[in-house]
Amino acid sequence: MAALLLTGGRVVDPANRLDAPNDVLISDGKIAALGPDAARQAPRDAERLEVNGLVVCPGLIDLHVHLREPGQTTKETIASGTAAAARGGFTSVVCMPNTSPAIDNAGTVALIHERAARNGLVHVFIAGAITRSIAGEELAPIGGLKRAGVVAITDDGHCVQNHELMRRALEYAKMFDLTVMDHCQDYSLVTDGVMHEGRWSIALGLRGWPAAGEEMIVARNILLAELTGARVHCQHLTAAGSVQLLREARKRGLPVSGEACPHHFTLTDAAVAGSTRFWANDGKDLAGFQEGGLPEWPAYDTNFKMNPPLRSATDREAILAGLADGTLEILASDHAPHCDYEKEVEFDYAPFGITGLETGLALSLMQLYHSRRLGLADLIAKYTVNPARLLKLNQGTLTVGADADVTVFDPDAEWTYTPELSASKSKNSPFFGWKLKGRAVLTLVGGRVVWSDRKAAGAVAAGC
Ligand SMILES: [Zn+2]
Repeated sequence: MAALLLTGGRVVDPANRLDAPNDVLISDGKIAALGPDAARQAPRDAERLEVNGLVVCPGLIDLHVHLREPGQTTKETIASGTAAAARGGFTSVVCMPNTSPAIDNAGTVALIHERAARNGLVHVFIAGAITRSIAGEELAPIGGLKRAGVVAITDDGHCVQNHELMRRALEYAKMFDLTVMDHCQDYSLVTDGVMHEGRWSIALGLRGWPAAGEEMIVARNILLAELTGARVHCQHLTAAGSVQLLREARKRGLPVSGEACPHHFTLTDAAVAGSTRFWANDGKDLAGFQEGGLPEWPAYDTNFKMNPPLRSATDREAILAGLADGTLEILASDHAPHCDYEKEVEFDYAPFGITGLETGLALSLMQLYHSRRLGLADLIAKYTVNPARLLKLNQGTLTVGADADVTVFDPDAEWTYTPELSASKSKNSPFFGWKLKGRAVLTLVGGRVVWSDRKAAGAVAAGC
């Protein structure tokens, strides 16, 4: 492979506290040089790409992705899901174990590793299940999963309700140096709720999913992390109370962390009542990004149904504040593809979840960076070094000698997301028709080009 020299970009590598214009030389799949030396060391035949005005950063990591293999390949495959990841600027994803069958044994882990090596466009890391079949009744073979190569365990999509079982899971996870990730949902409080319990669930006549249903399990996880000393990561947090619990626990030095998803800090429950209601109420704050017409959608649109649900504007502000003050140190998509025919039913019957790999970077930039809540380096850290550290992945930095997983993005590019631009097999995104700001223009995995927006990046031919 020829070498590639990226010149003139704003290089942001939070792991090395670097944020400055720099050249980056990529050769043999590695970061070969960075800074003034890069151009000097570049071989004569190196491809040169000017990236003035663009940001060059470590390849983004999304630690919450549903790739749906094995067993649900009408929704997504490793090939289509990782293609969507590459378009979104991600060079690594962590896939969730709620497949069919669940990833609860070493054999299934081996199967996914093999398919990812063959069909994956980006790195696929695997989260194993906490319990067998994600049924919440008996522990999965956690030691065997670790030996097979999982980077964490979670029952995502479900939540272990039995606290004693969760305690044992944490004790095993600690023994095997694994992080436990948790989808925080108290079943007795949530029952069959389909949207946030509040004024809009009452107005729409839909069953409510109260914020306390999440906060209860966040509190449980904090107590069990304290009891066992195991690392617990609370997935896709949505409620103001969850952020406050986590903030206090982290102040006390407990090994707990949390993540937020762009849809939860962009939209609110008013969106379930349709675009007219949303823009008139909670969408007003977002209006600055919507010059050129506001996107429209009807009430009860199932692309606004996810678990946990879109919450109130107050909760949205609390999530943004938690991201800004570092309480929530990780951004993730919870990319959850579903087929049209599954979503095109009454709100009550539709499955929870939306796709998110292709819109995550733009929405994060809009809500955090362009709104001046967070600096660019801090934002990038939540997609690179922070998830890498949490899961002990050898990733997330542009240190010389590291694998050349690199994302180049234009933070100011304005574009409209449409189904034609999506590589996912499923089209269940609430953000089609939205004018977004910020876009990945070049994604490199081990020096190989896996996504290039040719207009913006110029023609990067083969890779390096
Ligand atoms: Zn979940």
